[in-house]
Amino acid sequence: MASKNTFSQFFSRDKTFRPKKRFEPGTMKFNLHKQANASLNSGIDLKEVVKLPPGEDMNDWIAVHVVDFFNRINLLYGTVCEYCTEQTCPTMSGGPKYEYHWCDGQTYKKPTALPAPNYIALLMEWVEAQINDENIFPVKVGVPFPKTFLPTVKKVLSRLFRVFVHVYIHHFDKMVALGAEAHVNTCYKHFYYFVTEYNLVDKKELEPLRDMTAKICH
Ligand SMILES: [Zn+2]
Repeated sequence: MASKNTFSQFFSRDKTFRPKKRFEPGTMKFNLHKQANASLNSGIDLKEVVKLPPGEDMNDWIAVHVVDFFNRINLLYGTVCEYCTEQTCPTMSGGPKYEYHWCDGQTYKKPTALPAPNYIALLMEWVEAQINDENIFPVKVGVPFPKTFLPTVKKVLSRLFRVFVHVYIHHFDKMVALGAEAHVNTCYKHFYYFVTEYNLVDKKELEPLRDMTAKICH
């Protein structure tokens, strides 16, 4: 099984798509992040590693995973982004049955069809803004998580899932050619087990990858 280390080493030659979000060393979240990654390195069952360690806070556990998934999906898309253009991917689709339209309530007030690279750029910028917003993701010890935390996390993870959908359906041959298949699958499985363990993404959002998921997630 691929470990987090080899995953990072594998992609380290590549630019990240967006800047990597870092945890401040010495903070509780940094320690939890280390703990979550240490269990990945040991190569144990990904279904088990998503479980909340005894004595830890559920919201903290979710927060560090959201940030880690953002970073990893960022790296993952970074490896194929030069092959994902307005010409190759004029729509943000996940196969013939699914097409995503971007809506942020501000610049795009109505759901708008966009080429995949534009959609993904807006998506990653939006996720980054959420995880950097201390009113949603508090960083100081003793500052409680707001009521908006879980609804925001669900939206963030549902949107990040769409990047997997696009990469798997439209750029998987490139991932295979780069020898990244196992890394992508490990990243996907970890994400899938996490979001299903805590009901963070609606079943209907997971539909586009249902067959593939049935094959790799047992
Ligand atoms: Zn594409």
